[in-house]
Amino acid sequence: MLTARDVIAVVEAFAPTSLAFPDDPIGLQVGRADKPVAKVWLALDPSPAVIAEAAQAGADLLITHHELFYQPLKRLDTQSWRGRAIATAIQNDLTVYAAHTNLDVTEGGVNDVLAELFGLRNVEILDRLSNERLRKLVVFVPLSHADRVRDAICGAGAGFIGRYSHCTFNTPGQGTFLAQDGANPFLGQVGELTRADEIRVETVVPEQLTERVICAMLDAHPYEEVAYDLYPLEVMGRPFGIGRVGDLDSARSLGEFADFVRQQLGLSHIRFGGDPAVNLTRVAIVGGSGGRWADKALAKGAQVLVTADCDHHQVAEAWEDGLAIVDATHAALERPVLQKLREVIEQGTTGQVDVDVSAVREDPFTWA
Ligand SMILES: [Zn+2]
Repeated sequence: MLTARDVIAVVEAFAPTSLAFPDDPIGLQVGRADKPVAKVWLALDPSPAVIAEAAQAGADLLITHHELFYQPLKRLDTQSWRGRAIATAIQNDLTVYAAHTNLDVTEGGVNDVLAELFGLRNVEILDRLSNERLRKLVVFVPLSHADRVRDAICGAGAGFIGRYSHCTFNTPGQGTFLAQDGANPFLGQVGELTRADEIRVETVVPEQLTERVICAMLDAHPYEEVAYDLYPLEVMGRPFGIGRVGDLDSARSLGEFADFVRQQLGLSHIRFGGDPAVNLTRVAIVGGSGGRWADKALAKGAQVLVTADCDHHQVAEAWEDGLAIVDATHAALERPVLQKLREVIEQGTTGQVDVDVSAVREDPFTWA
């Protein structure tokens, strides 16, 4: 049976912890990583209602976007919102885990799900925060096993350059080795110098996948002792950042676009700041509270920013600066990623766990 640790590894392969903002207390919130898991529950907030729902349904692991300890806790009053949530989780041996800003930033996360939902084209990052760190892997493989080793390392995530996978360079040459007493050589004999026709296979590996790629390489390689080199690269890998910006298929008025966003998010109403008649072609998105990215949106040529939790000053100033703001609700912008996370976990665990999205109403706002 899988444990919480196994499921968390799948989530973190999708949303690496290295992408989280500094000081964002992502990760295990309550419970234990060795908890056996048959049922996973997904929600936005680790609220008392969600935790009670997950416990009632017999879930073993609850994965949320927001944390229980975003603000440090100085006392555990089990009559308070967080105290009730934590006590209920512990009483039911429910492990609670949070993927927050790493899920916002990652490729395919909160913001990419929204970009797809709003039909954006030529999507790029709104605010670049880091680049993937890369390593070069060089391995020497006998001719007979070159395809097998290449497939293994590329299958584990090495060899990606932009939209190309399986990028390797292969140089034929001759390897030599002399097996010592106690060795069990794949080629040649103990005590004799062996010359082997080998291929030098080289490729790039994202730093966070190094261990996985090396394990796959060692599994596929026939030698008892595999000769390989691993070195850091100055070349930058994929960019990572918060928010997305992209183009609409055709120009729409702000009023039309706001209504389209409302429909796509399943809201009864939506509010926006800006002239409803103004035409838009370029849209910026920040899932969650993103009013402070208005300047970045303008700098990237966006005419509208779709985000949540904006205050009077943010919307009024953006309007003056020529940026419209569509202010959806925080929950409406962040709930859609839960379906994506569900697919990621189902695929990554090859269906060994059940995954359900909470049915608790997570949007506290109502329009009268
Ligand atoms: Zn949020």
